[in-house]
Amino acid sequence: MVKIILKEITKKFGDFTALDNINLKIDDREFMALLGPSGSGKSTLLYTIAGIYKPTSGRIYFDDRDVTEIPPKDRNVGLVFQNWALYPHMKVFDNIAFPLELRKVPKQEIEKKVREVAKMLHIENLLDRYPWQLSGGQQQRVAIARALVKEPDVLLLDEPLSNLDALLRIEVRAELKRLQKELGITAVYVTHDQAEALAMADRIAVIREGKILQVGTPDDVYYKPKYKFVGGFLGNPP
Ligand code: ADP
Ligand code: MG
Repeated sequence: MVKIILKEITKKFGDFTALDNINLKIDDREFMALLGPSGSGKSTLLYTIAGIYKPTSGRIYFDDRDVTEIPPKDRNVGLVFQNWALYPHMKVFDNIAFPLELRKVPKQEIEKKVREVAKMLHIENLLDRYPWQLSGGQQQRVAIARALVKEPDVLLLDEPLSNLDALLRIEVRAELKRLQKELGITAVYVTHDQAEALAMADRIAVIREGKILQVGTPDDVYYKPKYKFVGGFLGNPP
């Protein structure tokens, strides 16, 4: 629903440069994977798009709107993290409803929206449980539901499936991809797993040491890597 433009984004932590002059355009409704090894700056870039980190320099646009100074809650982004952090003392229903409660949405509408999104993720029978009564895959579906319930323009995911076992990962992967296309949401998906990026993304941005080395379709980055590192990391070494 929105196009994201990153213009000359640099992020420093003290003297350390975590993001080094990042330029990237993510199209409306695109599924963009940020792929790179551990410590390459993927999460930092995602949190900068979310507004959790403010860039040291550079600008961020959602469509024509400069959001660089806009706090996270006013960017209409949905966030899903690796360690899905559900509220342990709240039932699934209340976990999903929470972002709407914050916005003072009327009760009836909350009820309707929570059930709608729970249905999409096949968790409508789990609404009365507590998070600890769920499997890992179910918990992650709840986290995705909570991110989607406020109908975000942008969905930001940080290695959301890396705690799941292989079979479940493939199942939730397909589900997530289907929902993203159905809802027409713009998604940025952080992963260090090249198979996941190749399977899910419309385009992949390969990151190393805070720099984007290459952006392209899975075919592009796999078959036409611009650097030895890119081919090697994607499993297609020269
Ligand atoms: P990735 O998600 O690709 O594993 P990160 O974006 O988490 O990488 O981190 C990139 C680099 O920035 C790492 O060297 C990390 O130690 C550093 N870094 C990340 N967040 C902070 C922070 N809040 N303070 C200081 N250094 C940080
Ligand atoms: Mg990370």
